[in-house]
Amino acid sequence: MNYDHAFHAGNFADVFKHAILARVIDYLKRKPAPFRIIDTHAGSGAYELSADAATRTGEWRGGIGALDPEAMPAEARALLAPYLAVADTARAGGRYPGSPALALALARPLDRLLFCELHPAALARLRAAVGRDRRAKVIDIDGYTGLNAFIPPVERRGLVLVDPPFEVPDELERLTAALLAAHAKWREGIYMIWYPIKDRRGGERLAAALAAAGVADALRLELSVAPPAPDGPLVASGLVIVNPPYVLEAEAACLLPALARQLGGGDGAVVVQRI
Ligand code: SAM
Repeated sequence: MNYDHAFHAGNFADVFKHAILARVIDYLKRKPAPFRIIDTHAGSGAYELSADAATRTGEWRGGIGALDPEAMPAEARALLAPYLAVADTARAGGRYPGSPALALALARPLDRLLFCELHPAALARLRAAVGRDRRAKVIDIDGYTGLNAFIPPVERRGLVLVDPPFEVPDELERLTAALLAAHAKWREGIYMIWYPIKDRRGGERLAAALAAAGVADALRLELSVAPPAPDGPLVASGLVIVNPPYVLEAEAACLLPALARQLGGGDGAVVVQRI
């Protein structure tokens, strides 16, 4: 396990993923009943953009650092507001909230959060970022094992974020198998899966596996900031959301083009598609 998200924190893919994560949490908060968030590959929790790793790649400058909410259409700016309420200071190179810090900031006192992480250094930083917050548990466990063990949650409502590093060649197959098993066990849960786009096949294979397994209600979102270059840096990523909030498709159709314009200029592009 060599992957360290500190090099990529706040990049275009994080902005896309976390802006949508904040929309889903915002939706869950519409009902007073508590929910649970399970983050299977949680990372370090939060990232200092002035630290060596983030400074070396400078990826955040093309992500959170390139966002200018004032220049966005009002409707897109409003949809981005929950995310920016937590991430705004990172626009100038401050502390960037990873999925755990974002979820903790947006969740309510009755909601519960469960974070799985395996890398010892990331785990130690995650424990420090969560601190004594009694709503959250940090568990040193393989994310897919944790997913199987911890669903369905007692709240019976909530979100699973699956955001692995894609370091191993069969990650997508493992992820798909774990997702289908989880969905068979907890059909009502919202599942949000992130994937990198190096070629078109990853997202299409995942979508085809879900359709073949009879997962009827899913949304595929993609955002790219430049034309694909096979051996170049990552310029596109996707999210599949199973059981998406009914408002999410329309929200993404408004928000993602505005994000793509700011992060990719004329080369930015999006996909918003039901599976
Ligand atoms: N979800 C985080 C966020 O949005 O801020 C980023 C997570 S990062 C892309 C992936 C993380 O998964 C890394 O911190 C890595 O150490 C961890 N990881 C790798 N293999 C794992 C496994 N089998 N189970 C749990 N975590 C794992």
